[in-house]
Amino acid sequence: MGTMDNEDLWQATLADIELQLTPANFTTWFRNTSVSSQRDSEVVVCVPNGFTKTWLEDRYNKVVLKALRNIAPSIRGVRYTVQARRGTPSAIKTKRQTTERESAISAAEEVVNQESFEALAIDKTTGLNPRYTFDSFIVGSFNELAHAAAEAITKRPGDPSYNPLFIYGGVGLGKTHLLQAVGNTLHKAGKVVRYISSERFTSELVSSLNNHRMSEFKEKYRKIDVLIVDDIQFLGRKDKSQEEFFYTFNALYENNKQLILSADRTPKSISGLEERLCSRFEGGMITDVSFPELETRIAILKQRCQERGAVVADEVLGYIAEYIQKNVRELEGALNLVLASTRTKSEAISEEDVKKILKHIISRPKKVVTPKRVIQTIAGFYEVSEKDLLGKNRRKEIAHPRQVAMYIMRNTLKNSYPFIGSKIGGRDHTTIMHACDKIGEAIKVDDILREEMDLITHQLYSE
Ligand code: ADP
Ligand code: MG
Repeated sequence: MGTMDNEDLWQATLADIELQLTPANFTTWFRNTSVSSQRDSEVVVCVPNGFTKTWLEDRYNKVVLKALRNIAPSIRGVRYTVQARRGTPSAIKTKRQTTERESAISAAEEVVNQESFEALAIDKTTGLNPRYTFDSFIVGSFNELAHAAAEAITKRPGDPSYNPLFIYGGVGLGKTHLLQAVGNTLHKAGKVVRYISSERFTSELVSSLNNHRMSEFKEKYRKIDVLIVDDIQFLGRKDKSQEEFFYTFNALYENNKQLILSADRTPKSISGLEERLCSRFEGGMITDVSFPELETRIAILKQRCQERGAVVADEVLGYIAEYIQKNVRELEGALNLVLASTRTKSEAISEEDVKKILKHIISRPKKVVTPKRVIQTIAGFYEVSEKDLLGKNRRKEIAHPRQVAMYIMRNTLKNSYPFIGSKIGGRDHTTIMHACDKIGEAIKVDDILREEMDLITHQLYSE
C-alpha cells in the first residue's frame, strides 16, 4: 500500500481521535488542523495558533500519535506547527457520524456566536451578564432549594453551610441564570466577584502557563471574594487544570470566600474528576434544578412577555407551555418565535397562529417510537446491519450496539424485559436485564457513551 495523501491520512486520524474525546474538546482542539507533510516517518500537523500547539503537545500527543499509527503503522513521530489556514474551509470530514459531528460543531459555533453577541453586555472584570437577576428568576418546586441557597449566599457569603454551593441539572434549566444572579447581587454590594466557565478557566490557565504569568494568574484568583465556576464538568480529565483549581479552591475556601459551582451532573458522576476535588465539591451544599411544572412554565412566559411589552392571551401562553416540555431555554425560544412571526400582525395572536408557527417543534414529543425504529436507528448510528443486530454475533462492534438497543427499549420505551427479548432475536429476559444493567453502569462513567445515547435519542425522536 502506498502512502495515503495528507488529507486522507488526517481525516482518518481525526475520525479515530473523535471517538476518544468529548465533542466540545474535539471541536476546540482539532478544528482547523491539517497535515502538511509526512516525511521520514514524521508527520507535521498544522494548527491555527500557539495555544493549540502547546495544548496538543502537552495533552493530546499520545492520542494523536496512536491514532496516526493505527492508520499508518510506519509513523514514528509527530510535530506540530502553527500555520493559519486562510480560505480553506475547516471541513473536518469523517466517515462515521459526519452529520452528528457537524451538528455538534455548528452547535458549538452557535454557542461561540451567541457568546460574542452576549459579550456586548458582559462586564469585563466580573464576567457577569447584568441581565441575569433574581427579579427575573421564577421560583417553583423545581428549583426552590437551589434558589433558597443562592439567596442565602447573597446575605451571608462564605457561610460554611452553603460553601461551596454546587448546583446541577440539565441544559437550559436556569443554572447559569441563578449563579449569575448571586454574582450580580454581590457585585453590587461591593464584593470582588468573578464568573467564569470551567473551559475558560482552563484556557486562562494554559495561556498563563505558556506566557510564564502564573504568579499573576494566582494573584488574580486569590483576591476574589466570590468565585463562580460554571459547567465544571468540563474540568474532568484535565489534570493540570484540576490541580490548579484545587489550589485556588482551597486558598479561597480557607479564607472564607464563597465558591459557587454548577455542572450538568453530580460531582460523583463527573468522570475523570479527582477524588479530592469531588469531596471538596460535596463539602458544602449540593442541590439540583429540574424542569418546571405547567403553571410555572406559564408564569415564565408571562414574565418574558411583560419584559418585552408584548400582550399575549393566557390561552396562547398556556398552549405554548403545555407543548414545550424540554427546558426553559426552549420555552423562551418558542415564545420568541411566536412574537417574531406575529410582529406585523395587527390583531391579537390566536391559538391557531401559534399552532401553525410551532408546528414543527411541538409535533416532536408526540412521535411514537417503536422497537423497530430503535433497531433501525441503532443500526444506522453504529453502521451495523439490522440482521447482525438481531443475530448471535458476539463481536464487540455488534454486541455493544445490540446492548444499547436493549437499554433504550427498556429505559426510553419502557418495554418489559421479555418483550425486548422477543424483539431482539428471541433472547432470554435475563440476557436483557444483564445488558441493561451493564449499559446503565457504563453510562455513569463513560462520557462518550452518554453522548452517543443523547445523539441516538435525538435521532429517534426527529424525522
Ligand atoms: P443552564 O445554565 O442551566 O443551561 P440558563 O441559566 O442558561 O440554563 O437558562 C436558559 C434560559 O432560561 C435563560 O435565558 C434563563 O434566563 C432562562 N431561565 C431558566 N430558568 C429560569 C427561571 N427559573 N426563571 C426565569 N428564567 C429562567
Ligand atoms: Mg449554563
